[in-house]
Amino acid sequence: MVYLIIGNGPAGISAIESIRQIDDQGSIILISKENNQPYSRIMTPEYMTGEVEEEDLFFKGTDVYANYNVETRLGKMVEKVLPEQSMVVLDDGEKISYDKLLIASGSRPIVPSFAKEDIKGVFTLWDKIDSERVNNHLPRVKKAVIVGGGLVGLQMARSLTAYGIDITIIEKMNRLMPLQLDETASDMVKELLIRSGIKVLLDTEVVSLETDNQEIKGVLTKETKIPADMVLLSIGVRPNLEMVHHTSLEIDRGLLVNEYQQTNIRDIYVAGDVAQALCRITGGCNVRPLWPCAIQQGKVAGTNMAGGQEIFQGSIPMNSFQIFGLSVVSFGQIEVTEDVEEKIISYPASGAYQKLFLKEGKLLGIIFVGDIQQAGLLFHKHGKSLQQGYFGTIPLVEVENVYV
Ligand SMILES: Cc1cc2nc3c(=O)[nH]c(=O)nc-3n(C[C@H](O)[C@H](O)[C@H](O)COP(=O)(O)OP(=O)(O)OC[C@H]3O[C@@H](n4cnc5c(N)ncnc54)[C@H](O)[C@@H]3O)c2cc1C
Repeated sequence: MVYLIIGNGPAGISAIESIRQIDDQGSIILISKENNQPYSRIMTPEYMTGEVEEEDLFFKGTDVYANYNVETRLGKMVEKVLPEQSMVVLDDGEKISYDKLLIASGSRPIVPSFAKEDIKGVFTLWDKIDSERVNNHLPRVKKAVIVGGGLVGLQMARSLTAYGIDITIIEKMNRLMPLQLDETASDMVKELLIRSGIKVLLDTEVVSLETDNQEIKGVLTKETKIPADMVLLSIGVRPNLEMVHHTSLEIDRGLLVNEYQQTNIRDIYVAGDVAQALCRITGGCNVRPLWPCAIQQGKVAGTNMAGGQEIFQGSIPMNSFQIFGLSVVSFGQIEVTEDVEEKIISYPASGAYQKLFLKEGKLLGIIFVGDIQQAGLLFHKHGKSLQQGYFGTIPLVEVENVYV
């Protein structure tokens, strides 16, 4: 049996571990565009500023490929998947056949149309190499603009403050981290950023970049010009799908999979940021570019590829982080719709903000800022509720029990 794995991120590595738990004889071949041991992208902002060392990034140690008896093609890109021939073609022309294929090629940052040209001082931050490029540029940076006030944008800002750089975050929406926070929670985070010397512009759209000799000089919004000698772009990601565009694999926003992480072509599985898999909130399929989803989906895919049976229970949007010492947890559905109501348990004036989102007396999601102590227990109950037949919800009585 030949297992071919595309991508050495958490999804690919978790699949390899699961395959080896069942099959210690089959041949595993791993192809990765990046010539690295598996590393954590989550720490790239800290690596960018030198807060963490290169070896701290590697989440599996340096002998992971040998440990799992994996043959590698590192620094090689898969250009095409040829499902009819059960084969992939690499950028150097090599063709590799498989019995089972896992596509775990992840995603990459979206580059807005105003930044398509190669401009010195304008970066995205996704790969280890991106961090190294930014790091090389940092000594000449006095003013930086971060386009996008999502989680990655805020992580970048926090890392740059240690450098004494004047930072402005520009966010198109009316709040920071729009996928995770409401306006009240965003205001709490914003206040903290401002106290740390970071400027925050909400409801503001960047329309173009000002350059001189292909070097960044500033950012233009509809209203104003902000000088900058570095711009970091962080407006979201899109799945790496180019290798399958010409195939009959079903694609929507990502590669569509069933609960086994299997595509419409039997021997091809998908996991991680590139997959559009079951979502526990809607019951439909969703792309969910989160580390824990990549690990879980990789595990399910690897187990099923090796002949075991495991089902992906569905993803829940979940973020837990600290920014300048402020703890934030957000999970589940955090939008008020016709049949979804909100219940505030604790207001910011008390130092903590806690809001529940409820539907017909069941919990759909939470936003907790400051005091997050009960969030873990609620998340656990939320997860367990699926097995009890409550799709993506917790009966309110269980929520209330957490608070008595
Ligand atoms: C700065 C930052 C902060 C983050 N913070 C969080 C966080 O707080 N919480 C959270 O849950 N998630 C966070 N994430 C997201 C998380 O890192 C990703 O969801 C996760 O890495 C996805 O794993 P993956 O295995 O699907 O893809 P990836 O980790 O992207 O790995 C994909 C692999 O595929 C390879 N590849 C791509 N195309 C090809 C090709 N054509 N041929 C061969 N190889 C290819 C790549 O080189 C790479 O090795 C963060 C990401 C970043 C960048």
